[in-house]
Amino acid sequence: MNYYSTNGKVSGVSLRQAVIKGLADDKGLFMPDVIKRLPQAFFDTIDTLSFQEMAYTVADTFFGEDVEADALKRIVYETLNFDVPLVKVSNSIYSLELFHGPTLAFKDVGARFMSRLLAYFVNREGDDVNVLVATSGDTGSAVANGFLGVEGVHVYVLYPKGLVSPIQECQFTTLGQNITALEVDGTFDDCQALVKNAFMDKQLNAKMKLTSANSINVARFLPQAFYYFYAYAQLKKLGKADNVVVCVPSGNFGNITAGLFGKRMGLPIKRFIAANNRNDIFLHYLRTGNYVPRPSVATIANAMDVGDPSNFARVLDLYNGSHEAICADISGCSYDDNQIAESLKRCFEETGYLLDPHGACGYRALCEGLTAGETGVFLETAHPAKFKETVEKIIGTEVAVPAKLQAFMQGEKQSVPMAKTFEAFKSYLMADK
Ligand SMILES: *Cc1c(COP(=O)(O)O)cnc(C)c1O
Repeated sequence: MNYYSTNGKVSGVSLRQAVIKGLADDKGLFMPDVIKRLPQAFFDTIDTLSFQEMAYTVADTFFGEDVEADALKRIVYETLNFDVPLVKVSNSIYSLELFHGPTLAFKDVGARFMSRLLAYFVNREGDDVNVLVATSGDTGSAVANGFLGVEGVHVYVLYPKGLVSPIQECQFTTLGQNITALEVDGTFDDCQALVKNAFMDKQLNAKMKLTSANSINVARFLPQAFYYFYAYAQLKKLGKADNVVVCVPSGNFGNITAGLFGKRMGLPIKRFIAANNRNDIFLHYLRTGNYVPRPSVATIANAMDVGDPSNFARVLDLYNGSHEAICADISGCSYDDNQIAESLKRCFEETGYLLDPHGACGYRALCEGLTAGETGVFLETAHPAKFKETVEKIIGTEVAVPAKLQAFMQGEKQSVPMAKTFEAFKSYLMADK
C-alpha cells in the first residue's frame, strides 16, 4: 500500500518510508491510498473473535501488503496483551476503558505498535533512528515506555515545563537507557513546533535519522482503530450494536481519526462526537466551516490542550474537504474546567464510576447529546489516578494509585532543561550525537 500527503505534493510513499519519516516532505500527513472495506461476514461474527484476532484482521487490511504475516501477527499480539473492557456507567452509556496498558492511557496501543513496526523496518537497515516526540503529558509516557529498551532507537521526549502532572512527568523522566526527557520552557505547542522544525532542518537530518512518534505517524494513529472494532463487538454481544454513538475526548484528533477510518472500513458506528475542553478549535470549525488555530490554554484535561490539532488535516482529507460531510458524521462540544469537574463529581456520586478529566468530557457529551434509541460509548482515555490531585480535589476522596503507577514514582527524575527556541534545541541535538 502506498501513502500520499494531505498537502498533495507527495505520493507513492511506502509504509516503511512513511513510518520512518513520520511527516511528509511537504509538511503534510500521510494517508493510505486506499481504505479497504471489511467483508460483511467479518462484522457478522466479530463478537466471536478475541481482541487480538479481530485486531489482526484490521491490521492486515492496512499493513498486510508491507509486513510479513508472522511479523505483523506478533506485533499485534504483543501490542494488545492487555484488556480493553466495556463498562456500563449509566443507562445507555458505556465507558471503553483504554487504560489497562503499561502507562494507563490509550496511547500505549499506538506507541507499542509503532515501536515494534519501526524496529521491524530499521533493524533491517542497521542505522540508528531518533524518535522526537512532543507531549502534553500522556504521549511522552506511552512512547517512552513503548520504546524503552528497543534496540537501534533513541527517544527524545519534549514536554512543557510545569504543565504536565507529576505522575505523568515521572513516567518519562525516570526511565534512562534510550530515553531522554527534555523539559522545555514553553507550552505544548512550542514543543510540537520544535519537533516539526527539526524534521524540516536539512543540516540536522543530514546528521541523524529523525522520526516522530506523535499521532501524526501512521503507525501510531492507525492501530487505534482496533479498539473501536472491539467496542462494537462487545456491544453486539450485549445486543446494543444498533445506533452506536462514539464520543472521543479529543486533542490532536489522532484517536477520533482512527475511529473515522474504522467507519470507512465498514464498522457500523452511527456517528461520532468530538469532546473538547476549552481548546475548541474543532467545534468552531463545525459551527462556521472555518479552521482557525489559536494558542492553547491550560485546562484540567491537559492532554487535550491543543491549539492546532495536527490530525485535522486527515479528517479534512478523509471527507474531501467537505464541511457538510464532516458535520454529518461528527458533532462537537466544549467544556470548561467547571463543567468537567461537575460531570466528574456527579458521575461519581450518582453511579460510583470514577472518571478522569478527559473521560469526563466524553461522558458529559453523551449525557447531553444522546437521543432515544442510541447507545453511547465514550473512550475513557486515561486512568483517573494519572490526574490524582485534580480528581481528589473534585470528589473530596482519596484516589488509589495502581501499583504500575507507583513503581514509576519511585524512580529518580532525569531531564535536560531546554529553551523554546529552535536554535537551542538544534544545537543540543547536534552536540548529543
Ligand atoms: C492524548 C490524549 C487525548 C487526546 O487524544 P488525541 O488523539 O490527541 O485527540 C485524550 N485524553 C488523554 C488522556 C490523552 O492522553
